[in-house]
Amino acid sequence: MSQDCLFCKIAAREIPAKLVYEDDEVFAFEDINPQAPTHILICPKKHFASLDVATREDEAVIGKVMLAAAQLARERKLLAGGTFSGYRTVFNTGKDSGQTVFHLHLHLLGGRSFRWPPG
Ligand code: 5GP
Ligand code: ZN
Repeated sequence: MSQDCLFCKIAAREIPAKLVYEDDEVFAFEDINPQAPTHILICPKKHFASLDVATREDEAVIGKVMLAAAQLARERKLLAGGTFSGYRTVFNTGKDSGQTVFHLHLHLLGGRSFRWPPG
């Protein structure tokens, strides 16, 4: 846990959030400023600032983050069985990518269509 980190505080229940998934290593919650009908942030409980500082030791937990996103997407029918067929998963890394919170998180966005290339 990093003392000044917003997402560590959410994991520790020091700041409220709408949690949608949790296990020993991963937690997920609704984004406070959703950019799509579904906008969930999936995080490792271990604090690291971004993908850039992840190491081989973090391989498994990053895989768990990705698989938690896939599971949430299936539960919410973001690919099959819903109105839209597709979802987007995004790691922003560094300020010019749009990263504003420096605790690694995967955005899961769905429930609308998305353009490519992204802005
Ligand atoms: P980034 O810009 O770092 O890729 O993503 C950070 C995300 O965290 C943004 O989409 C932003 O809306 C969300 N966020 C920032 N502060 C809070 C908060 O206090 N609670 C929740 N649930 N989401 C937050
Ligand atoms: Zn943190």
